[in-house]
Amino acid sequence: MTDDILVVENLAKRHGAVEALTDVSLSLAPGQRLALLGHNGAGKTTLIKLALGLIAPTGGRITVAGARPGTHAARAATAYLPESVAFHPALTGREQLALFVRLAGEPTRVCGPLLERVGLAHAADRRIRTYSKGMRQRLGIAQAMLGRPRLALLDEPASGLDPVSRHDLYALIDGLAREGTAVLIASHALTEVEARTDRIAILSAGRLVAHDTLAGLRARAAMPIRLRLTARDGAADEVQARLGGERINGAAVEILCAPQEKMDTLGRIAALGPLVADLDVTPPGLEALYRHYSGEDRT
Ligand code: ATP
Repeated sequence: MTDDILVVENLAKRHGAVEALTDVSLSLAPGQRLALLGHNGAGKTTLIKLALGLIAPTGGRITVAGARPGTHAARAATAYLPESVAFHPALTGREQLALFVRLAGEPTRVCGPLLERVGLAHAADRRIRTYSKGMRQRLGIAQAMLGRPRLALLDEPASGLDPVSRHDLYALIDGLAREGTAVLIASHALTEVEARTDRIAILSAGRLVAHDTLAGLRARAAMPIRLRLTARDGAADEVQARLGGERINGAAVEILCAPQEKMDTLGRIAALGPLVADLDVTPPGLEALYRHYSGEDRT
């Protein structure tokens, strides 16, 4: 027995000769935010469709809240935000949401607070055809929040949004997770999901090549850490002579070191005392880790 909301075990999906997913296993607990990453055609949409019960697996098992996707229990537990949300352009935001509210079997009085929560109260009575992409996406999130879903499947939720709208959207997603919803976010926006998710799953050609926290991915990849030192005026030659590394411009020296050598290297830097004016330590970002795990850095 598991508390996980989404459980995927050795899942496989074949479309004719195409193996869209092969032997994928992962799980998602209440309140967890999982980023699902992968190149075009990696299998992200296929996994979401399987979780929604729109297609059936050709192998393995998938359950949502303990039920088979597509059953009433699984559907009632799931919210879905497609990449391009389509609403009726002639309806106002409030009217459209009221429709979803009635379909979800909830009282229409929840509309006002929900529109307020997603920052659409000011535009609630305007027709959706006048909404910007960001406003439509907020309405989509409002719809996804209805009925306190146990699992939210969000396909590229921030695509086409400006930085402020993206920030607001991730704050809403965080709110959903805090209330206990398990959130799966399929995305290509690596730097964005890096800070906003608990775990990261990377699909490559239908196979799950990584599934861990950012720290876990970093530890396993053992990719070098970048240390950039700014030397005091006139000290760059001596800093480079004593530490090695590469001269970046007049005053900066860059060293790459293995994670297990980091503390030793920092000790050697500290021993340089006043020769060093500043230091930046940069672990590999999700972009570099993504290339590592998906094999794109071997091509
Ligand atoms: P993108 O980032 O481009 O949206 P994706 O990771 O969502 O890609 P999928 O749409 O899941 O990828 O597709 C996975 C693979 O399965 C691709 O090779 C795709 O061509 C194939 N595929 C998906 N649906 C079908 C189908 N109905 N018939 C045949 N092949 C399909």
